[in-house]
Amino acid sequence: MPDSFAFADDLGPEKTVEITDPGTGLRAVVVVDNTAAGPAIGGARMAPDATAAEAFRLARAMTFKNAAAGIPHGGAKSVIVADPRMDPAAKAELIRAFGRALRDLDAYIPGPDMGTNEAAMALIRDECGRACGLPPELGGIPLDEIGATGRGLAVAAEAAAEAAGLSLNGARVAIQGWGAVGRWTARFLAQRGAVIVAAADIDGAVHAPGGLDPAALDALAAAGRSVAEVEAEGAAPLPREAVIGVDCDILVPAARPDAIHEGNVDAVKARIVLEGANIPTTLAAGRRLHERGVLAVPDIVANAGGVIACAVEWRGGSRGDAEREIEAKLHANTAEILAKARAEGTSPRDAAFALAEARVRRAMTFRR
Ligand code: NAD
Repeated sequence: MPDSFAFADDLGPEKTVEITDPGTGLRAVVVVDNTAAGPAIGGARMAPDATAAEAFRLARAMTFKNAAAGIPHGGAKSVIVADPRMDPAAKAELIRAFGRALRDLDAYIPGPDMGTNEAAMALIRDECGRACGLPPELGGIPLDEIGATGRGLAVAAEAAAEAAGLSLNGARVAIQGWGAVGRWTARFLAQRGAVIVAAADIDGAVHAPGGLDPAALDALAAAGRSVAEVEAEGAAPLPREAVIGVDCDILVPAARPDAIHEGNVDAVKARIVLEGANIPTTLAAGRRLHERGVLAVPDIVANAGGVIACAVEWRGGSRGDAEREIEAKLHANTAEILAKARAEGTSPRDAAFALAEARVRRAMTFRR
């Protein structure tokens, strides 16, 4: 049972819906955290071990991410408890049942997340009339094709590099996670002259001080092989978790939560940590990075490219509109947060959460 009271405070959640459908076996939880700024956008995640507690935490994170991004949307999240690798026909049935259950929940606009994709969003929209991250044939902006989140991270890196007095041209970058976020971040940073000196995926890691070709790593990933197998001058395999401590200027954790923790934070050699994944740094490790003078751009600011593209799609904008808006917002928002943190003597993370919360509270003053 979702214990909404245990998570509730004066910001939210506004609504928690637990869904069970004996016909299809659907079990899901939707948490609409806060809609003061507008209808709530948040991913619909499918995982066998998904929990209501996860939905509450992620819904609040979306409220703050959307506020920090300056888009007119509140935050929500939903979890469907099922294995996304199930039989495709049964999965489509489950997704449709989930979409039907959202018919009256018009404060929630679902988007793709772990275990769901644009095709799933098309089925949900067919059932309830709402979803973002749709296929292009339905007016969707293909988030992964435009590298929405990676594009934003590279622009955030530009603003962070300016603040740190570092040039992206020649900057050495280590990427943890060669998925939708990591590989696009690498590609956009390489376009700015950065050198990818290390990469990791779930099967291993590789270090090449002379630089790695992102296209060669993409080819391996597309063939279902590990980036650790890449052949490049001076390339040597590393234990997977050692990517965190590689000698580099910018570290991009773009895989899992809690990747930087108290046990490895002092190994970090980068001057800038660019949070590609959600919550990739524990609170204690984040404080330690700040003490050590490492500039960490927090997830709710740095990885907002995807949700900005969803907001542009929702209002009927084009792919070009999304690309322009991601670039403009990510540069301005990162620069603003870093300046605020410097002025107040706090960490960028604390500055970002304070700014986001203040925006949500102000939006709430306009409600009855
Ligand atoms: P993905 O599934 O496309 O890729 C994940 C990558 O991480 C894979 O290469 C996988 O092999 C690797 N990986 C997994 N565990 C690892 C480990 N322990 N060490 C090294 N590599 C590991 O996922 P994604 O869409 O790129 O998302 C990555 C993270 O970013 C997630 O936390 C996600 O919630 C977050 N995020 C994604 C988006 C988006 O637009 N896709 C937006 C915001 C935040």
